[in-house]
Amino acid sequence: RQAEAAQQRGAPAVTRDGHRIEIAANVNRPDQVRTALEAGGEGVGLMRTEFLFLERGATPDEDEQEAVYRAMIAALEGRPLIIRALDIGGDKQVAHLGLPREENPFLGVRGARLLLRRTDLLEPQLRAIYRAAMAGGDVSVMFPMVTSASEIVRLRAACERIRAELGAPVLPVGIMIEVPAAAVAADRLAAQCDFLSIGTNDLTQYALAIDRQNPELAAEADSLHPAVLRLIAQTVAGAAKHGRWVGVCGGIAGDPFGAALLAGLGVNELSMTPRDIAAVKARLRGSRFDELRALAGRALDAATADEVRALDAGAQR
Ligand code: PEP
Ligand code: MG
Repeated sequence: RQAEAAQQRGAPAVTRDGHRIEIAANVNRPDQVRTALEAGGEGVGLMRTEFLFLERGATPDEDEQEAVYRAMIAALEGRPLIIRALDIGGDKQVAHLGLPREENPFLGVRGARLLLRRTDLLEPQLRAIYRAAMAGGDVSVMFPMVTSASEIVRLRAACERIRAELGAPVLPVGIMIEVPAAAVAADRLAAQCDFLSIGTNDLTQYALAIDRQNPELAAEADSLHPAVLRLIAQTVAGAAKHGRWVGVCGGIAGDPFGAALLAGLGVNELSMTPRDIAAVKARLRGSRFDELRALAGRALDAATADEVRALDAGAQR
């Protein structure tokens, strides 16, 4: 029985009509990889590297970072690893970086904007990632909070320069879709990178103009709001024009109904906290992809998040 349960967890998420969704885990530290794999994760779809900076109380140097990335790669034994470059600003403030105070940090110098201004942070991190990848593994680099194609061009140029200096392998370079402008213009951004991963936590915050940390508005900050779903659909369509894959690594990917809807919208990969994996896989395995597509179509036509959630009861019947 135990062996059967373990086999269920390890089996891929394939719908009853044979459509596979890749299921990855959001994991920040090498010692969490084992739990993620045991839970059924097929790789790491989001490694939030800012935790390295937050936990140490000091900026980790290139060697320290390389050691952590190497340990992640080793623990994954060839499975995919997406390392997200430092995403500081907004809700993730790091005192020891001495960044100026901002009136509106969520609309300020955060994510890619900060990386492009602080090469003293960007370059050691990229060198550490490329050096770690020289030992092998299936490593991708991902940039947070990208708003426009010009940012990707500049970030990619930094990757390529560092890669060439080190003689390291070429790694896929992707971006997060977290800003509504990036979702609407996803076709333009997809032309400049290898994959897109939607950060629905921030995308919801920016689309609905609701601070993701405001408890008063938590119920209204619903990633299943039809406007957010339309932004996701636009992202998928934009990526498809260039043959790029699309993932979702925000919280809604770990909600079984949310995962079913995202699959129906054409998302290829879902990355979530390990504890959500089993329920999401079970939901997808019990579904037909043609029905999920029809469900997604109805959700895009709904007027409110409540209407979208009401479709869940219908889908389960
Ligand atoms: C997101 O915004 O959905 C996301 C995955 O990134 P973070 O939660 O780290 O901002
Ligand atoms: Mg985010």
